[in-house]
Amino acid sequence: MRVVFLGAPGVGKGTQAEKVVAEYQLAKISTGDLLRAAVRNQTPLGLEAKGHMDRGCLVPDSVVIGLVREKLTELSKSKGFVLDGFPRTVPQAEALSDVLDGQGIRLDRVINFRVSREEIIKRLSGRRSCPKCQATYHVDFAPSGDGTACDRCGELLVQRSDDQREAVEMRLKVYEEQTAPLISFYEQRQLLSHLNGAEPVEVVYQELVRTLSVYHAA
Ligand code: AMP
Repeated sequence: MRVVFLGAPGVGKGTQAEKVVAEYQLAKISTGDLLRAAVRNQTPLGLEAKGHMDRGCLVPDSVVIGLVREKLTELSKSKGFVLDGFPRTVPQAEALSDVLDGQGIRLDRVINFRVSREEIIKRLSGRRSCPKCQATYHVDFAPSGDGTACDRCGELLVQRSDDQREAVEMRLKVYEEQTAPLISFYEQRQLLSHLNGAEPVEVVYQELVRTLSVYHAA
């Protein structure tokens, strides 16, 4: 199974990707996670990406495409995969098609998660994460036991710099301008399914599994 998860930040792509890769034993390629790891490890790529990420802007296509190309080449022959947060621009989608064509494989489906703007702002501004084990929480919907420390490893939770109000507004603007055009890109290729991401996590997941079972040949 080879799928792309599309949608604005905060629609739940990462949460659903975690669940689906565990159930179907797929590889998850999250460009956000790869970039955050590069920033933490202070690699040259991470140093280049950090400023863009903190402001809520996209990291340049050439950097992200290079990162994903490497991962896909490692993975795509052996396993299915979920791409979470990539592609985010039309040039990235074209580069993805080229890489997959080059390997003689194709996408089964692109899932577009839809959530209202107010709900996204609520979700992102209340999100807290663990800088050590990357677990995520929400101050209202999924707080940690004591509200300040990670339940898994005890580290003090932080708010991602790009989950602060100004960066969230910028990320939503960038999504509308640069990522939303991918909806028609994949619609034209008859690969797109829409899901209501505002439902509870388990309801969205059941709908996701149902959709994937329709399009993924057994
Ligand atoms: P995410 O965790 O997917 O919301 O990504 C966090 C940040 O990483 C984004 O706001 C961008 O700055 C950067 N990023 C992640 N994926 C991409 C991508 N495909 N293209 C460009 N920048 C990206």
